[in-house]
Amino acid sequence: MCVLDYEKEYRQIARQYKKLERDYRALSGMHAQVERLHDANEAAKELSNFYTRLLLQNTPGTIMMFDLNMNFVLGSERVVTILGYMDMREMVGASFYALFERAVSATLANRFGALCQQVVESGKSADYEKKVTFLDGRETVFQIKVSPAVAADGVCRGIIIVMNDVSELYNARERAERANVAKSSFLSNMSHEMRTPMNAVIGMTTIGKSAPDIEKKDYCFEKIQDASAHLLGVINDVLDMSKIEANKFELSPVEFSFEKMLAKVVTVNSFRIDEKHLELIVTVDKNIPRTLICDDQRLTQVITNLISNAVKFTPEYGVIRLGARFLKEAGGLCSLQIEVKDTGIGISEEQKTRLFSSFEQADSSTSRKFGGTGLGLAISKSIVEMMGGEIWIESELGKGSTFAFVIQAKRGAAEDDEANYANEHPSDLPTPAKTDDNDDRFEGRRIILAEDVEINREIVLSLLEPTLLAIDCAENGAEAVRLFTNAPRQYDMIFMDIQMPEMDGFEATRRIRALDVPEAKQIPIVAMTANVFREDVEKCLAAGMNDHVGKPLNIEEVLEKLRRFLAA
Ligand code: ADP
Repeated sequence: MCVLDYEKEYRQIARQYKKLERDYRALSGMHAQVERLHDANEAAKELSNFYTRLLLQNTPGTIMMFDLNMNFVLGSERVVTILGYMDMREMVGASFYALFERAVSATLANRFGALCQQVVESGKSADYEKKVTFLDGRETVFQIKVSPAVAADGVCRGIIIVMNDVSELYNARERAERANVAKSSFLSNMSHEMRTPMNAVIGMTTIGKSAPDIEKKDYCFEKIQDASAHLLGVINDVLDMSKIEANKFELSPVEFSFEKMLAKVVTVNSFRIDEKHLELIVTVDKNIPRTLICDDQRLTQVITNLISNAVKFTPEYGVIRLGARFLKEAGGLCSLQIEVKDTGIGISEEQKTRLFSSFEQADSSTSRKFGGTGLGLAISKSIVEMMGGEIWIESELGKGSTFAFVIQAKRGAAEDDEANYANEHPSDLPTPAKTDDNDDRFEGRRIILAEDVEINREIVLSLLEPTLLAIDCAENGAEAVRLFTNAPRQYDMIFMDIQMPEMDGFEATRRIRALDVPEAKQIPIVAMTANVFREDVEKCLAAGMNDHVGKPLNIEEVLEKLRRFLAA
């Protein structure tokens, strides 16, 4: 071989070497790349695991997954606590039944397992709501969804269970349903409560109309009067309750004599107390200030309700004690405790919890036997709470009951006799006018009666007939304004109903007061309305009226207003 050949071969080898070197470099580059890719993959997997763990640890719900053999695969942290484990790792691989039987009864675990098995077999998810009682006594209502865990290839690889705690929602729904049932039975009680006196009114009217002698007629009238008063009480309760439910119930504090208020309560109830031969013992703590400032009408209502319940639920010859104690005076407020104790039928523990809820009676048969709407105590509770206090019962079935409440009231400044004890809303039903009293003759005087209901106009006209007043009737507020505007000097006074079509009594009063004649400012306007509480009276005064009489009318009250405003 010549030198040239060697050289040629050398160059060939060198070229091959270089190529090998290039290939080697490319290969090692590729190798590094593959290694980098592998590492990145591992890191991604690691990251994904990390986030999966994070997701499961922080998922507020209860989510778990089982494989096709019903063995636990993974779940959220809540599953660990719910099933009574410390760490999820203890659970992985354990069977569905082994897990659930640690927390709930075997029967429940089996039933649930069968449902999950069905999902695996059918490939269809299932939803249901279940109240679960755990072995430790806890109760939770779950909304449960069991779904097949289907992989990308469409094959089911297990099941996913999602359980949401809906106990609060469930309880709220149950409460609403219970309230609904109570309201329905309340409505039927109420209809009974209203029909009973209505029946007496209609029946006694029929008997009275055909009764030959005056005594029998009088007897019927008395019964009609009793029944109407009762009906009015029922209606007032319903009105109060609807005000309470609409958050429109307000107190109107005034200064009043505490002892006189109690005396009035006793007088109002004395007839029924005597009728049942009950003994009523009243004790009043001498430390209670003679006059107090709070809403005496509402306080009277609470005490009257407790006394009339005591009378209702105490058999003949029983004893009722009404007591009032001074507890303390702090921050300008006196705390008083008032108690009504009876020797009546008593109330069971279970019944006690429900009594102060609206529409509830201790026992639904009560309403049939004793009557009542079941509203009295709920109204009393609201009143007492608005007076900064609370009400409670101490009672044992068959051994009598004590209803007690605490209220807070300001100490009054006036002496007994000066105290505004005026809010004596005279009794609620019309009584005949005294025809032979010359003081109550108003001959030559003329008034407007604004009242939209014909029968009410007729009642006023008949009741006032003996007074010889001239009365012009207006059927709504606008007509009253027209009558007055046409002849302002002709009228001495206006009785103004409040709720009327076209224009109500408030607006009519405002328009009359705004007229540009001196009489418009001076004419006495007296509201005549069924809204009898102090806040209603205050609204009338704010509209420019001088005074107020309640409906149903009490003729004495009407006459008193006439005497006052038509004097001179
Ligand atoms: P009602 O108008 O039905 O009497 P209340 O709210 O005043 O309404 O009373 C509710 C229920 O509480 C009554 O129906 C009765 O079952 C029970 N109750 C109230 N006071 C007494 C009492 N002094 N003794 C026994 N049960 C009572």
